[in-house]
Amino acid sequence: MTLRVGLSGGIGSGKSTVSAQLASLGAVVVDADAVAREVVGPGTPGLAQIAGRFGPDVIAADGSLDRPALGQVVFGDAQARRDLEAITHPLIRRRSQQLFEAAPDDAVVVHDVPLLVELGMGADYALTVIADVPEEERLRRLVELRGMDEQAARSRIRAQADDGQRRAAADVLLDNSGTLDDLRRRVDDLWSARIVPFREHLADGIPGSAPGAGSSGEDERLRARVEAALGRPLGEGVDLGALDEPAVRHGLRRRGLLVLTGDGQAAADGRASGASEEVVIASADPASAARLRLGMD
Ligand code: ADP
Repeated sequence: MTLRVGLSGGIGSGKSTVSAQLASLGAVVVDADAVAREVVGPGTPGLAQIAGRFGPDVIAADGSLDRPALGQVVFGDAQARRDLEAITHPLIRRRSQQLFEAAPDDAVVVHDVPLLVELGMGADYALTVIADVPEEERLRRLVELRGMDEQAARSRIRAQADDGQRRAAADVLLDNSGTLDDLRRRVDDLWSARIVPFREHLADGIPGSAPGAGSSGEDERLRARVEAALGRPLGEGVDLGALDEPAVRHGLRRRGLLVLTGDGQAAADGRASGASEEVVIASADPASAARLRLGMD
């Protein structure tokens, strides 16, 4: 099974730079912005649905979506925005899924999602990587290197999650406050020392064991991943049999998680039932030390 990595960062944090480098290292990159554009491209059923709901004025003369016109229609109109999302979100989900499934079985798939944190998607991945740069430096890069208007850049930054929210979602906080060379080295290191071993350890059922090296908030992120795989909150506990349901097993694996017996060994065939009265869930992320015990009273 592929290893799915989520990548995000505030605008101007270097996310596109990181994603291009990961692609050159061999990752299959799924670009959420590109998918969002593709599903409403000229001649698509998605674009026809939008024209059906919002009228012909949102289609430009060349048959493409007139984004500024559509923006004016949905700006400040919550119902219109919901209608638009009801059209685009399922199309984006379906297309993304197709692209994930088209990746080779042993691939690392990097999902590049600008609004990953805002949309609460961190628990959907085996590893969430966040490019991190102080706000003032991001602003400087957007204005000086990408030629954005300063006020426009400020308001884009303000509309996004703040750095604290992003850090809480990050398994890997990729500091990009230094030079482009510094960033390149960090990404190389992330790939060879963490992502590649993670994929191998997941295939071989080897849990992470980095005593004391766990990053802050690791327990919460592990718990959120288990809940996302189960499709419900853990609350008081969980019937261990639920962990053997095929959809749940798949969901755990997709998030890089292993089911271990109470003494920390990999459960036979990854099955929880019959293993013991309690199981331990751990990530195969070599840099993770978090463990979640399930099944106790
Ligand atoms: P994002 O995709 O997160 O909005 P980009 O990757 O486009 O960010 O980076 C924003 C701008 O800053 C680009 O012009 C990029 O080349 C530049 N940049 C990225 N990282 C650095 C760095 N460490 N030092 C200097 N410039 C950088």
